[in-house]
Amino acid sequence: PYDMLIVGGGPAGASAAIYAARKGIRTGIVADRFGGQVADTKGIENFVATKYTEGPQLTASLEEHVRDYDVDILDSMLADSLEKKDDFELKLENGAALQSKTIVLSTGASWKTIGIPGEAEFTNKGVAYCPHCDGPMFEGKDVAVIGGGNSGIEAAIDLAGIVKHVTILEFLPELNADSVLQERVHSLSNVTVITNARTSEIYGESKVQGLSYVDRESDEERSIELAGVFVQIGLDPNTAWLEDTVEKNKFGEIVTDKTGATDVPGVFAAGDCTDMPYKQIITSMGSGASAALGAFDYLIRN
Ligand code: FAD
Repeated sequence: PYDMLIVGGGPAGASAAIYAARKGIRTGIVADRFGGQVADTKGIENFVATKYTEGPQLTASLEEHVRDYDVDILDSMLADSLEKKDDFELKLENGAALQSKTIVLSTGASWKTIGIPGEAEFTNKGVAYCPHCDGPMFEGKDVAVIGGGNSGIEAAIDLAGIVKHVTILEFLPELNADSVLQERVHSLSNVTVITNARTSEIYGESKVQGLSYVDRESDEERSIELAGVFVQIGLDPNTAWLEDTVEKNKFGEIVTDKTGATDVPGVFAAGDCTDMPYKQIITSMGSGASAALGAFDYLIRN
């Protein structure tokens, strides 16, 4: 069996693999797609000590760094289930089964998309999902936030300090965020809230120039000219495959302690698939390192 098997090859998993391999233990990493969300990112400006990089470049460095160690990389493989036998058994979609004494879950998350015309076409060309990441790219410009829940309103408040104007579009008749956030957003002079709005299209040429929405009361279609659209309708952790093997919160995020330990002894978790609050490359890498060290500590004590 492996000593440590890491499931997921994004920043959290890559970091866990390096920390594990440096302990001289038998380490494997299973990933559906190495790089994870980073592979889908264009400009990255907040990866500390690197002023600017791009997703494919950072993905290549992650992989190169992991390959520098004695780690079995099982790329393009999807984990299907996890079971405790003598060791842990990770079953893959292709029918294979891998055994390991400890597990680090780092399967990440996916931003929910709204699936309207223009969204996929203009991703990274004005359509964005992460205000901490991409907000500064819209300095002095007009943007929209789609979604009036907590993440949408937090994003709008954050963006209002950077961009010229923010329009929030909420599908329902009212915003869904905590009242303190709603009060704060209503106090900002450069934020407009539009409720009952069904966003129908994001348009542009080489990049976003505007969006259209239908006023659900009057059924009229309207357009707003802007440079950026932040889609904030939720983040889905990739944890459904685990069913109830480990404890999750109501969002489906794996519950971990400060060492990355889950409620199952020997199973650790890191990155966007966990209940860690701020989901970034640097925080994922940090939690991947912690989870690997936590799992190593578990190994030497058991
Ligand atoms: P992920 O990156 O999601 O990686 C998950 C890994 O698990 C992948 O390898 C995936 O293939 C694998 N996986 C999933 N399910 C399975 C399974 N069942 N079996 C096997 N493997 C599986 N953050 C920043 O700090 N700065 C930015 O500028 C930035 N920009 C972003 C732009 C975009 C468009 C997006 C989507 C995100 C951005 N983020 C940014 C957020 C950042 O990418 C994530 O916080 C980070 O990648 C999370 O790392 P992770 O390793 O936890 O998960």
